[in-house]
Amino acid sequence: MEKMIIHNSLSNKKEEFIAIKHPHVGLYVCGPTVYGDAHLGHARPAITFDLLYRYMQHIGYKVRYVRNITDVGHLENDADEGEDKIGKKARVELLEPMEIVQMYTRAYHKNMEQLNCLPPSIEPTASGHIIEQIEMIKKIIDKGFAYVNQGSVYFDVDKYNKTYNYGKLSGRKLEDMISNTRNLDGQHEKKNSFDFALWKNASPEHIMRWTSPWGVGFPGWHMECSAMGIKYLGEEFDIHGGGMDLLFPHHECEIAQSTAALGKESVKYWMHNNMITINGKKMGKSLGNFITLDELFTGSHQILEQAYSPMTIRFFILQAHYRSTLDFSNEALQASEKGLSRLMKAYVGLQKIQASNENSYQAKEIRDKCYAAMNDDMNSPIVLAHLFDGLKIINQIEAGSVKINQENLDILQKTYHDFLFNIFGLSIDKEEKKDNSSFNDVVDLLLNIRLNAKQNKDFATSDHIRDELNKLGITIKDKKDGFEWEV
Ligand code: ZN
Repeated sequence: MEKMIIHNSLSNKKEEFIAIKHPHVGLYVCGPTVYGDAHLGHARPAITFDLLYRYMQHIGYKVRYVRNITDVGHLENDADEGEDKIGKKARVELLEPMEIVQMYTRAYHKNMEQLNCLPPSIEPTASGHIIEQIEMIKKIIDKGFAYVNQGSVYFDVDKYNKTYNYGKLSGRKLEDMISNTRNLDGQHEKKNSFDFALWKNASPEHIMRWTSPWGVGFPGWHMECSAMGIKYLGEEFDIHGGGMDLLFPHHECEIAQSTAALGKESVKYWMHNNMITINGKKMGKSLGNFITLDELFTGSHQILEQAYSPMTIRFFILQAHYRSTLDFSNEALQASEKGLSRLMKAYVGLQKIQASNENSYQAKEIRDKCYAAMNDDMNSPIVLAHLFDGLKIINQIEAGSVKINQENLDILQKTYHDFLFNIFGLSIDKEEKKDNSSFNDVVDLLLNIRLNAKQNKDFATSDHIRDELNKLGITIKDKKDGFEWEV
């Protein structure tokens, strides 16, 4: 099996990946809070961990991929106070909270399918695991790392930090956090401002509520991932992923909760994808640059010059390393669109190449380089650079200046096929049509009718055919001896 190196946020270093129960891998990724349409910020973690999921399976691991749906407990501003994000949307829209959850879960699934992200093996919801969360909170209280006050349960960060190390993931120090005290509503229930809620007492107007040993309430946001990760992947599992924005406090608190309950750490490797900016700015509703995936796919946002296909978005995200920041702009997306089209055209051309008896090209080299880049912390931009480099060779083979035998041709074709489709999860959509001979025949037929009309000076018909084909995305170049066209 390929030896894979991944960056572990815990050590802040690249480490060799060694599965706890080889060849089985447990992968947990924090999923969306379903109170609105999926946006660009959702696309990056989904594609990053889809790449990991696909690649690990490709090299022979059996991966159980768990990605949760947050449908309760995520309060405004990611804080311990304020309204539940879903509860608030339900109140504003005059719907049941679970109607909101269903509606946006469906929309999220549709977008993920468009982006060709494989569905996770298990997709648990927070509201479906209230009992597991209550049981885990009880354990944390029993171990002495949480306290009850006014029907709420808070994690005792200071006490935990005396035995374990709070801040080990984010590198934050408790002393620094003490100075960062904000005076928030309900803060007086906490011993310290940095303590966080495991269970919150529900105020009378709070809609989503369950009975617990501490009264009627709801779980704190971080509890669900600790409880569901352990439930489906075991007390110790391989990889926990998510966006960098979740590193603190969400993942830091998850580590503290699991360690407090189990007396040991749950997760071996933490992986975080970096954020997306738009024209150099952070994405935000107040900045007017908050773009949903549906808006991107249809081009219906004022800052978009055109629609961008899901595959263009996917390709664009894969063109950057997952730990680098990524800036969206029309220019960058248009460049991605062209780049993807070039690669797919070359792929189609590669399928038509006939092997020669001679050979002057070793395809193993490009294949090995692509695997080496993927094994080095999923360096997808380097893989793409190798695939683009290979286009020159493909052109030379097509032109006959480089000879390739069957064995090398098989390797070359398989390398492009595996990386483009199986590992990168791209699909060929438009390009497929170009390779489809009956489609080509129909276009040729129409253009011959047009040529005829032109020769008979029937310009109305000839222009009509040209304009209609243009609308379908087919451009025509008139030549002295006929025509050329492309999609
Ligand atoms: Zn989470």
